[in-house]
Amino acid sequence: MSEGPLAPVWDVPPEESAARASAARRAAHVWRRASVSQRVAALRGVWEAVRAKREEGLAVVREETGKSRDEAEILEFGPASLLVRYFLANASRILDERPAWTPWFFLNKRAAVRRLPRGVIGVITPWNLPFLIPFGDSFCAMLAGNAVLLKPSEWTTRTALWLEKTVAATGLLPEGLLSVVPGRGGAGEGVVDASDLVLFTGSLATGRRVAQRAASQLKPAILELGGKHPMIVLADAPLERAAAAAVWGACANAGQLCVGVERVYVESSVHDAFVAKVRARLAALRTDGPNADIGRFIFPPQLDRVQKQLDDARSKGAEVIGGEVLDRAGLRMAPALVLGARMEMSVMTEETFGPVVPVMRVGRAEEAVALANSGPHGLGASVWSADLEKAERLSTLLEAGIVGINEPATHYALGSLPFGGVKSSGLGRRHGDEGLLALTQAQAVLEHEWPADAPDPWWFPYEARKTALLRRLLGLR
Ligand code: NDP
Repeated sequence: MSEGPLAPVWDVPPEESAARASAARRAAHVWRRASVSQRVAALRGVWEAVRAKREEGLAVVREETGKSRDEAEILEFGPASLLVRYFLANASRILDERPAWTPWFFLNKRAAVRRLPRGVIGVITPWNLPFLIPFGDSFCAMLAGNAVLLKPSEWTTRTALWLEKTVAATGLLPEGLLSVVPGRGGAGEGVVDASDLVLFTGSLATGRRVAQRAASQLKPAILELGGKHPMIVLADAPLERAAAAAVWGACANAGQLCVGVERVYVESSVHDAFVAKVRARLAALRTDGPNADIGRFIFPPQLDRVQKQLDDARSKGAEVIGGEVLDRAGLRMAPALVLGARMEMSVMTEETFGPVVPVMRVGRAEEAVALANSGPHGLGASVWSADLEKAERLSTLLEAGIVGINEPATHYALGSLPFGGVKSSGLGRRHGDEGLLALTQAQAVLEHEWPADAPDPWWFPYEARKTALLRRLLGLR
């Protein structure tokens, strides 16, 4: 197991990217003829193969990311398993042709809505969950009848190539249905150009570029961008659970989760008790060895970015407990607790993406809600209270696509829940019925049944007698 990051995988020659795009396009033409139940059967077999080979996949993920085996299995393969279970069981309900309403005088006609595949879906993914995000998005895209051109982060391309190889080896899908395009930003641009819809996960800056490029070609783009999860801890919160959630929510995946807890607002009366519990839990985390709770950073510049936020907090008067660089070359740092955090500090406003728990004391819950809503982000947020009614009411005031009530952020694993952000955190949703439907196009069907060879009365010629009758039927009288 390598200690530090592996060298990134750079661009393949343009002609190879073009060949992969053509293979995906050809496969899309074949796959679109498969019925929903045929797709379900094939993709069930694909998942069985991926699951059976997961030790091999875990080794690649660990090599690229430095996660412990437990964390890689629980955060990458665990949610994938639940997503597969949900979507295989519900694909037919969501995607099959469904009858549509008609007025009574259309009783000789049938209306229905079909969900057609879009063609090729461009899936562009970041480095933080190199198996889960590429697999989950590709799986849903293929279930909806599409081919996939997958552009992984250059830092985690090996995992995507392992996935491509494992899927292809099943022989259950048309050749090239899942095609990986390795490379940097330019490869991502090529994927936008070669696909019919883009499903992008990454930073706001890149997301904006991707959306502009897609829009200039009149292609839709679903964007899952960064977050700044505010956790609001009320005076009556279940403190043990809240403290454990703050630590797990902020430090799981070494803090590199878009829905991870990024700032905590605590009502004054329980601030000290909450902080004591968080502090004890942070101190108990293992930062070394194969079973470390806190892994390394995946993207090398991330260590300095997080340290810069801690320096900024210190310089503005916060107390930072922990947070030392443990191994610069190995990209490891100790988890940090930031006390006395204030909104002037970058650690409270900019995405941290590191194992940091900044805590700010607030007077009242409403103040916390206003602070939570004050920034540009709107992905995850949570409210913690023993009074579920109060917590539910406050959660409706949060400008976030995903809210937890005494829950940090496990939403992604539940295929039944639409996942995505508001404000600068994204556009559109993945998962849920609407997420799967977004990967299709609606085709409206109207079929005339009988009498087979007679015109409809509202066709030519227009006549006063017919118009009078139609006026009544149409409710215009
Ligand atoms: P980036 O935005 O830098 O990159 C995302 C992907 O886009 C990478 O594959 C990248 O390639 C590619 N890319 C870069 N430039 C272009 C371009 N011009 N056109 C098309 N594609 C391009 O994000 P990171 O990889 O740094 O990931 C971290 C970010 O992702 C964080 O902000 C995090 O919050 C967010 N994220 C959001 C999630 C969500 O669901 N909302 C989930 C996980 C992460 P390359 O890396 O090779 O440059």
